[in-house]
This record gives sequence, C-alpha cells and structure tokens, in this order.
Amino acid sequence: MNRIPDRIVIALGGNALAPPEGRGEARAQPQRQALRESARQIAQILAEGAEVVLTHGNGPQVGHLLIQQEEAKRWVPPQPLDVCVAMTQGQIGYLLQQALESALKERGLATPVVTVVTQVLVDPRDPAFAEPTKPVGPFYSEQEAEELRRTKGYALKRVGNGERPYRRVVPSPAPLGVVEEDGVRRLVEAGCVAIACGGGGVPVVETPRGLEGVEAVVDKDLASERLATALGAETLLILTDVERVALHYDTPQQVDLECLTAEEARRYLEAGEFPPGSMGPKVEAAVKFVENGGKRAVIASLTRAVEALQGRAGTTIVKVK
Ligand code: ADP
Ligand code: MG
Repeated sequence: MNRIPDRIVIALGGNALAPPEGRGEARAQPQRQALRESARQIAQILAEGAEVVLTHGNGPQVGHLLIQQEEAKRWVPPQPLDVCVAMTQGQIGYLLQQALESALKERGLATPVVTVVTQVLVDPRDPAFAEPTKPVGPFYSEQEAEELRRTKGYALKRVGNGERPYRRVVPSPAPLGVVEEDGVRRLVEAGCVAIACGGGGVPVVETPRGLEGVEAVVDKDLASERLATALGAETLLILTDVERVALHYDTPQQVDLECLTAEEARRYLEAGEFPPGSMGPKVEAAVKFVENGGKRAVIASLTRAVEALQGRAGTTIVKVK
C-alpha cells in the first residue's frame, strides 16, 4: 500500500458542503452529513501524517448570498461580488473548521484548523474580462435583465426557459497567484491545517493604490493548482461527485480512466472530452500542476479520498507512467 505523501492540497467540490438536493440550510441534516463525511476522510489523511491544505468551491453559497443582496437592496446597499466571495470564505471556512475539528477530536488529534481569507491575483487584461461566461446569482425576467443591463452595466445571458430565464454572467479570469501564499505556507509549516482559496479566492488586480477586488470569479480548481504549485505540494487531490474522469462521459461508450500522463490528459482536453464548466478546469488544473513540478494530481470521489491517495480510486495524472 502506498504511503500517503507529505504535503497535499485537497480541493473540495460543491457537494462536500451541500448535497445537490439540499437548499443550503447550514444546520440541515444532509449538509451536516456531507460535511462530516468529508471531514472524516481528511482527518484520516492527517492521522497518517500528511500536511493538508484545503480549498473549496462556493457556487451555491455565493448564489444564495447574491439573492439576499438583491432582495434586501431597498434596506441596505448590496455588496459587490468580491466582498460576497470573501463573505462565503468565512461562512464555509467556519463550517469546515467545526466539522474537521470534531473529526480530528474523534481520533484524539488537536491539529489547529485555520481559515485564511484569500485573494487571488488576476490580470486586468485577461481576455476573460471581455467575455463574461460564468453565471452567478438569481434568475431574472427579460424586463429585469434589461433594467440591470441599463442601470448596473451587468452582462446578462439567457440560460434557461420560463418566466425568469436570465442570469448575470461574470468574467472568469485565469488565476496568476495567491496573495496569501506565504501566510498559508507558514501555517502549514507550523502544523496547522489551512483552509484557503475558498470559491477560487477573491479576484484582485494590482492598481497604483494597491490591490483592488474585481467583479469576477476564479475557478476553484485552477486557483488550487496555483496554491499547490506555490507550496511545492507533492499531490493535488481534487474531490468531486464522480468516481473517475471518463472519456465519452455519460454515453454508452463511457470509459473511466485510472491513470494517464499529463500529455495524454492535455490531448483529451483539447479534443473536447471535458466541458469548460465542470470537468474541464479540473483536468486543466491537474495537467498544469504536474507540468509545474507536482508529483501527481488525483481527481476522485469525495467519499474515496483516502483510497484515491493510495492509488486505489479516482484518476491519477502523472508526468510519466
Ligand atoms: P465540483 O462542484 O466538484 O467542482 P462540477 O459539477 O463542477 O463539480 O464537476 C464535476 C462534474 O463533471 C461531474 O458531476 C460530471 O457530471 C461532470 N463531467 C463532465 N464531463 C466529465 C467527464 N469526462 N468525466 C467525468 N465527469 C464529467
Ligand atoms: Mg465546479
């Protein structure tokens, strides 16, 4: 059985925090259950002696928060998107801290778990700013969409049917680096579990006045690659809701992949096997991590994190097989 390596960045997918059928109630049983299950896996990895940094998504949570901003705007001013992302980092970080501390305690461990509000640097000239693609927040009617376009300059896209088919779309620029990288490194070296890059991190740009947040979102898997590479982690483990990365996904010809080289993965990526909004960024993050010197990236199901690190589950991407 393979030893669990020293330093691991673990990216948690949306359903680690809330099962798809849930509506995001923080104290609801299914959400608690999902969190507890994820936390137990991570506690086991820590118990085996690994250093762990956690990252996580925030899609449903930031969506809900944007709806609250929208509904309450007559009473209090809505916060901009960068502030909302930071708010969800605190929200989810808190829930993860609590779940992981309990799971560690069950094993007699008292590893400190610390959430870091994280900024991620993006390039203001990133072509993504000219072409917003990522849907966020509430659904709008055509009339509301028109109004928001006029009054706020939002980009809106028709994404569904029915009475409210429009959603705001925001740019998803490439992450260049993690601003709090040194802080996270020091926490890890001091024996803490750091939770960082929540929701892909708050996107910021450099200005003559210092860093400033922008109305965009960063993909959490790509941000996790930046952090894992900067920390010199050996493994990037991306946990989601499928067992393995597949070719011809969701067709009768589906083939699950166990192990592939970064070069093979890149070829499949370019052939369009992995869609942009879901598996695409995971495979891209995995390929980049390995190309940037990481030992291996593993994409696996949330419930099989430990087995995935032992090479018994998930899809492993390496430089050479
Ligand atoms: P997360 O919240 O973990 O980031 P996503 O929904 O963004 O999860 O991405 C995981 C999803 O990607 C899976 O649920 C699966 O439906 C989808 N998917 C798309 N293409 C593939 C593929 N080729 N192999 C495996 N899963 C795929
Ligand atoms: Mg995703």
